[in-house]
Amino acid sequence: MIEIENLVIGYGSRKVIDGLNLVLGEGEFVYLQGGSGSGKSTLLKALYREIDRYEGCIRIDGRPLNSLPKHVTRRQLGTIFQAYELLAKKTALENVKLAGEVLGMAEAEIEARARELLETVGLLPAADRYPAELSGGEQQRTAIARALLNRPRILLADEPTGNLDSGNAARILRLLQEINRKHGVTMLVVTHSDTLVRTLPARTLVMENGKVRDHVHC
Ligand code: ADP
Ligand code: MG
Repeated sequence: MIEIENLVIGYGSRKVIDGLNLVLGEGEFVYLQGGSGSGKSTLLKALYREIDRYEGCIRIDGRPLNSLPKHVTRRQLGTIFQAYELLAKKTALENVKLAGEVLGMAEAEIEARARELLETVGLLPAADRYPAELSGGEQQRTAIARALLNRPRILLADEPTGNLDSGNAARILRLLQEINRKHGVTMLVVTHSDTLVRTLPARTLVMENGKVRDHVHC
């Protein structure tokens, strides 16, 4: 479903990604590891098209990413980040709904889907709370619900558990794996934690010298 061929991305003359090849199948759950500064976020940015200038080719369903308008790519994608990025003055429910409002979905559909997703992530009882009234894990679960509102086929997660203690981190990853299994959303999840990868194993890619290699934990 996602094919990357000979990808090269540099900042100035420095190549951060240098001849990267990667194939992700539909419905796969894949971890992306690698040292700080190895280019993990850069790769994700190219996939969600915050970075659009590169050499090589990224294809989704056989079609080059940059042959389509950005909003068409983004409709197929959900993103979550380490810092949750919820709006402080909006409740959990309003934060989730916002994603649908941006895309111009019908209000009734947005409301129904937002509630259903808050239920999926176990937060319906907290729907009317503001981010400051939610724990880190709850904020991240709200961000996951928000990312899924547009029914994305692919979810990109950049260190989604980076701000959480190990118990909450495992809970978030377990939730992502469950959503992957039940709804078939393809997931690429950046994580630093070997412990989590061992506890909740899945295909693991390691970024090194501008390329990725499959890594088998044993
Ligand atoms: P990771 O997410 O693996 O920690 P990044 O993809 O964020 O790594 O960054 C890879 C390298 O590119 C780092 O050395 C970083 O300093 C550099 N870098 C990232 N973004 C920029 C930018 N906008 N301008 C210049 N250098 C950048
Ligand atoms: Mg990063």
